[in-house]
Amino acid sequence: MTNNKTGWNFDTSYDRLPESFYSRTKPTPVKLPKLAIVNGSLATSLGLNIEDLKREDSIAEFAGNQIPEGTEPLAQAYAGHQFGHFTMLGDGRAVLLGEHVNPKGERLDIQLKGSGRTPYSRGGDGRATLGPMLREYIISEAMHALNIPTTRSLAVVTTGEDVIRETLLPGAVLTRIAKSHIRVGTFQYAASLRTVDELRSLADYTINRHYPEIEDENNKYLLFLQAVIKRQAELITKWQLVGFIHGVMNTDNMTISGETIDYGPCAFMDVYNPETVFSSIDRQGRYAYGNQPYIGGWNLARFAETLLPLLHEDEEQAVKMAQTEIENYTELYKQNWLNGMRAKLGIFNEEAEDEAFINELLGMMQKHRADFTNTFRALTLDKREGLDLFGTPEFTKWYESWQARLERQQEPKESSMELMKNTNPMVIPRNHRVEEALDAAVKNGDYSVMERLLDVLSKPYAHVPENDDFCKLPDPTGQPYRTFCGT
Ligand code: AMP
Ligand code: MG
Ligand code: MG
Repeated sequence: MTNNKTGWNFDTSYDRLPESFYSRTKPTPVKLPKLAIVNGSLATSLGLNIEDLKREDSIAEFAGNQIPEGTEPLAQAYAGHQFGHFTMLGDGRAVLLGEHVNPKGERLDIQLKGSGRTPYSRGGDGRATLGPMLREYIISEAMHALNIPTTRSLAVVTTGEDVIRETLLPGAVLTRIAKSHIRVGTFQYAASLRTVDELRSLADYTINRHYPEIEDENNKYLLFLQAVIKRQAELITKWQLVGFIHGVMNTDNMTISGETIDYGPCAFMDVYNPETVFSSIDRQGRYAYGNQPYIGGWNLARFAETLLPLLHEDEEQAVKMAQTEIENYTELYKQNWLNGMRAKLGIFNEEAEDEAFINELLGMMQKHRADFTNTFRALTLDKREGLDLFGTPEFTKWYESWQARLERQQEPKESSMELMKNTNPMVIPRNHRVEEALDAAVKNGDYSVMERLLDVLSKPYAHVPENDDFCKLPDPTGQPYRTFCGT
């Protein structure tokens, strides 16, 4: 372990896995590193000194020009189903600097993204551009503030180099913090090696790191599968409840820790419509809002397949066990979602008609093109104005049955309002607001718009009237919002 003045406390364990799981590789130095943004509150929680992080040697480390003491960077190998097609992958533009143990004793990956080519780069240049790295910073920090498990962003530096995309764009490196970067795709990679020993090494390592409570159980691999399914069902429920669309739920972008990862083409839904897709490459709507829970199950089925040799020595038995767990996912997700929707409506107990009642509201929202966040915001603030939906007779009828539903439970109305306030965000990273912040930063080097947005997004459940501007929708005559991968 190393403990330097900045507070880094590196203690890397991933390189104790068999060598096939990674390649030692160094970041490629860049021309002129400059700090774009650094995350003060995250730094503090990591036990790092923010003033030290702004110094030249730290900036050189964030850029990959200098390697922090006590680290030996590596790129991780993985595979994955991309839009349903299996491919061998790996960190093509990222390196794991190492694992940092924070003052609470939590082990976290410190990864540089955009740090140059690696043995897994294939045809890629290993680089990232400033706009998308700032975008990941904004949205991952917003997700964290929404209480949704996620990788986080410690810093973005510009490189002083241009990156060739459709045009020349300024290069940047993001320092990403994660519980780990072990993915469903890492298990698919292990399974593709066809030696059960390596698969078992990865499973044991991952259980020790993320699910230590099951480590000593006899049937630990089955419990492991169940635990990962449970965490992913919880995570995807949380996405659905705030209208988050991941955009590229390939199996290599699904973590075993249950954190949201890979903020390429993600975006928040405005108008409620299950078919909403923002990603320019998702032409079939595979990763549409309403399809995310199903895709979660599909990805978990791929994960379960990798574990078959560990589940039971008899393959047929193993398949049966895996199938049972995957079937359970559907029910688990549905119960989580129902409970989450109940909370959004201030409901504490269960009634058989709740599902139909919730779907009735969603159906009306879709029909009247109601904004997802602002509908629940208005119900929470008890302000029935500003949305077309609220003027309709069908809504009035629904509203009355909702009030009656609230009266049928023991909890007083104030408790319902409290529950709704803690469940329904007042602000989300609206697409046009995110773009506005990125424009100012990337085109003019003005980070004040982004700082203000980050500040608003850091308290999403607080109703701050001065922030009401951040709830407004974009000009409806504008172009549909589009997002992109791999930039
Ligand atoms: P993603 O779509 O972000 O999940 O990335 C899929 C794969 O492409 C990952 O293995 C990335 O490391 C790799 N990749 C994305 N962009 C680049 C790039 N510019 N250079 C090399 N590899 C890349
Ligand atoms: Mg990815
Ligand atoms: Mg990506």
